Amino acid sequence: AQLDTLDIIVLAALLLGTVAYFTKGTYWAVYGDPYGNSLAASNGTARAGKSRNIIEKMEEQDKNCVVFYGSQTGTAEDYASRLAKEGHSRFGLKTMVADLEDYDYENLDKFPDDKLAVFVLATYGEGEPTDNAVEFYEFIGGEDVAFSEGASAEDKPLQNLKYVTFGLGNNTYEHYNSMVRNVDKYLTKLGAKRLGAAGEGDDGAGTMEEDFLAWKEPMWTAVQEEMSLEEREAVYEAVFEITEKPEMDADEDEVYLGEPNKNHLEGAQKGPFNANNPFIAPIAESSELFTAKDRNCLHMEIDISGSNLSYTTGDHIAVWPTNAGKEVDRFLSILGLADKRHMVIAVKGLDPTAKVPFPSPTTYDAAIRYHMEICAPVSRQFVSTLAQFAPTDDVKTEMTKLGGDKDYFHEKVIDRHLNLAQLLEILSNGQPWPKVPFSLMIEGLIKIQPRYYSISSSSLVQKDKISITAVVESSHKPNSPHVLKGVTTNYLLALKQKQQGEPEPDPHGLNYALTGPRNKYDGIHVPVHVRHSNFKLPSDPSKPIVMVGPGTGVAPFRAFVQERAAQAKAGQIVGKTVLFFGCRRREEDFLYQNEWDKYKEALGDNFVLHVAFSRDGPKKVYVQHKMEEAAEEINKLLEQKAYFYVCGDASNMAREVNTLLSKIISKHRNVPETKGEEIVKAMRASNQYQEDVW
Ligand code: FAD
Repeated sequence: AQLDTLDIIVLAALLLGTVAYFTKGTYWAVYGDPYGNSLAASNGTARAGKSRNIIEKMEEQDKNCVVFYGSQTGTAEDYASRLAKEGHSRFGLKTMVADLEDYDYENLDKFPDDKLAVFVLATYGEGEPTDNAVEFYEFIGGEDVAFSEGASAEDKPLQNLKYVTFGLGNNTYEHYNSMVRNVDKYLTKLGAKRLGAAGEGDDGAGTMEEDFLAWKEPMWTAVQEEMSLEEREAVYEAVFEITEKPEMDADEDEVYLGEPNKNHLEGAQKGPFNANNPFIAPIAESSELFTAKDRNCLHMEIDISGSNLSYTTGDHIAVWPTNAGKEVDRFLSILGLADKRHMVIAVKGLDPTAKVPFPSPTTYDAAIRYHMEICAPVSRQFVSTLAQFAPTDDVKTEMTKLGGDKDYFHEKVIDRHLNLAQLLEILSNGQPWPKVPFSLMIEGLIKIQPRYYSISSSSLVQKDKISITAVVESSHKPNSPHVLKGVTTNYLLALKQKQQGEPEPDPHGLNYALTGPRNKYDGIHVPVHVRHSNFKLPSDPSKPIVMVGPGTGVAPFRAFVQERAAQAKAGQIVGKTVLFFGCRRREEDFLYQNEWDKYKEALGDNFVLHVAFSRDGPKKVYVQHKMEEAAEEINKLLEQKAYFYVCGDASNMAREVNTLLSKIISKHRNVPETKGEEIVKAMRASNQYQEDVW
């Protein structure tokens, strides 16, 4: 009998499965639909089927430069692909981008000396690696790091390895850029040779992009010299092939209309739910916490029952946003795609190592609405690249100027908080830019990122309902024609308004597609996953705790106090529970004002709330002032081994609180300030001092 296509597919799958089984997945690679596989890949166990041997992979794909990234929010990943593209277009390097998590590093000692490895490494939180870089970091920095040839660190086993590295960090954190600094140190110690300087970008100073641009030119010069490369005129080469499918209808079953992966496309959502597979959760309740007319802060109760998701007090919930319809429309119009928004498109990497950042086939509308970060700050380098596709020569000249002049760019773009489509629209006076390849937009914009929120409920009190406390981002620069509307918080606000049946559900005309792809989010749902954190209450509730959380920084502390009140009610011995909260005005933004009394009933004098109002009196009062007033008590509690927690604004408050605490300790223990600083450091190291800042 003749085999039909299905038979052949089934047989091929069986055969591949058998090979995979016997080779334990080390020898072969599949370049299939990553969104179909992502369920399995995401839980860390089912990586079989993808080669984890980077050297082999590079040989196979004829590459001589791999750009690895350790990325949490997508920026490092974006920089990695930009470097890969530039290395190729300017210097003819045969580049590929690689997720650090996807490979093993035992064979780095065999990395050929005519190839180059690039490491783009973000530092996360308290000097930690990003989730996808944990294994690499532990391996390369491990005390007994051992390579395939069995050479030990003393033998300098990485002498063949040439590398380049750039770090993304935030100087407001103590361990500024520690990932790039440490990895650079380890690699050097192992004998590897760095080309150019180890770059450091600073998000704290808001100079990340400029630091990156300034670092890469001398780096390329060093690479060029070492590898004898010639610079050529960079011509744009698309990374993705976009095929329009007019013969297909957007309603067809296999077209992704915003569904995050195959599981969601095919019907009822299935777990496990995680960073690759969100749970479409019902919002059980939502309300407004501020009384101020011009500012919003949302409280939401997200129902996770039946999802198998779980959380513990102090964890984070990630919300998967949708772009506002208003910005989707603007983006489509400026590219001249408005009429074709529902055209089905198939998107494919032209090179097998290029990952399409969303599932395909899809439509222009769905790709832009659900998968591309179209509202983010604009990159100057991207503006330079886009110049060649400007609709007129005048616009091209202006784009080139913006791309080349850092200060001018800041004045005209960054300081006005423009997003890309707004900028293009202003420059061309609304005339469309049809010459811009859609591939370039996918390459130049990062994929939309879930936003994290510190869970503001206790898992002991409500294990199936996650509370969030989110302030809605809305700001207007006087020199800008547009109001900046935070993507996720305005989406949540719109959901809340719909849930409340408010007369004007969308006062800003943002027009979110609240019912989601194929109405799958109807009935007030939002896609989420849970991220576990180390921000935790002491396991023994009788230990005292001191919490500092102004503004929405109070979110996890509402959860902490809620938990301790429940423990006290249940008859457990609960230690002193001291909270410092700050806001503008008692009548305006005093979060959970009515709840604290209830917790006080359960906790009695063991609960102390200090509140600072910055705009209620003639003098601005902040949490730091309240801490100074209560300094003696704080010191006494710390001597009783109280846990100390800070949550909220990373840039100023958290750092000031840290310094203040050293001073308080020094003063009340009568020791020099340097000793106070040491004590605080030791508290951090032993987890007695914990931060949850953003
Ligand atoms: P976005 O669209 O992401 O914009 C955020 C900011 O980026 C803007 O305000 C602006 O400053 C800048 N920006 C955006 N676009 C542009 C542009 N075109 N030009 C210039 N600047 C621009 N928030 C809470 O309210 N409550 C919490 O409990 C909370 N917990 C968090 C916990 C963690 C671990 C982290 C990392 C963050 C937490 N956040 C919390 C912050 C939250 O994740 C979001 O960052 C915040 O809600 C804003 O999201 P958004 O999508 O509405 O705004």
